[in-house]
Amino acid sequence: MEHLPIRTHGRMCNMTSIYNASALDEFRKERSLDHNSIRRLRNRLLKQFLSDEVVIADFPYAPQLVLHCLELYQRIDSDLDGATKLLFRTDAGMLIESVILRIASGRTTLCVSSQIGCAAACEFCATGHMGIAQNLSASQILDQVLQAGQILTSERRQLHNIVFMGMGEPFHNERNLAEVIETLTDVRQFNRSPASLLVSTVGIPKAMIRFANRFPQVRQALSLHSVDPEIRKAIIPLASRYSLPDLKHAIAEVNRLQNAPLMIEYLMLKNRNDRIHQAQELAEWVQGLSVHINLIPFNPIEDAPHLEGSEPEAIRAFSATLKAAGLKVTIRYSLGADISAACGQLVRKENRRSPTVN
Ligand code: SF4
Repeated sequence: MEHLPIRTHGRMCNMTSIYNASALDEFRKERSLDHNSIRRLRNRLLKQFLSDEVVIADFPYAPQLVLHCLELYQRIDSDLDGATKLLFRTDAGMLIESVILRIASGRTTLCVSSQIGCAAACEFCATGHMGIAQNLSASQILDQVLQAGQILTSERRQLHNIVFMGMGEPFHNERNLAEVIETLTDVRQFNRSPASLLVSTVGIPKAMIRFANRFPQVRQALSLHSVDPEIRKAIIPLASRYSLPDLKHAIAEVNRLQNAPLMIEYLMLKNRNDRIHQAQELAEWVQGLSVHINLIPFNPIEDAPHLEGSEPEAIRAFSATLKAAGLKVTIRYSLGADISAACGQLVRKENRRSPTVN
């Protein structure tokens, strides 16, 4: 992993990242520290998510390491439910988003970003309208987990699941994504169960298969939204590069490599993809595949005023048609409607408010 340049009193200097095992070992040797001190530091920070203050009090050398490479720029808590949006700023002044979801059952999920902007250009997504795509480094993705984990620890909560559903197409940042998964599941680092991780993609067939081969226990979610090629291409312009038969083949391969069903994400758009015959076509398309279908009500965004969410009755009828065909279906209600929790909305608003930030 890279040495991260950070700005200290106006100078750029190279310091050792907390995630860089070999550099950390050098750091330890130079200061004649024992192995236990580094192990303890990592445990307290990456497994227990203790605050920087607590960590530094226990390990006075900590300020000589890069503990964070993102600045928490803004935090917005929902008044309606247990969602918190975190806006982070990179060294280059770019904004990215993460969302903490505290579900009524007590479980928590963190949604992280993998890119700034996104080349998939989905019609319904504020991030897709940014027109740029820049990969986040592994450390920038991991720091979203660390800082969100520290917030949850301060509330005496645990972080249960991490989903790669924030800004960006994770498989367009495949190398860094793999490094993040390795670090999150490494027993010496975050030590998280691979089954608690979920990577969401618009459907890049070869990358889905490569990923399932390398990480068979990490679940995948596919944003499908339609099995009509023309409708799907209109909703997800990137989909024009990959055929639906190729995608179906990829799902079958992922199924062969994994025990858990693949999640299918289906955004419910009024008069676009929510008719009963379209539910029947979807049921037919997934025949023989192991999938769990999530129907997602759509909340309008400023960037796509022409899109409307399906009526609740249409969603229920769509769900009933799929269930009648023997499929597992969940209607997923989004948290954080009052804090623009949908991907990229807050960054778009913030960039419009203060365009110099980005
Ligand atoms: S929905 Fe996801 S894949 Fe589509 S443009 Fe937004 S961030 Fe990219």
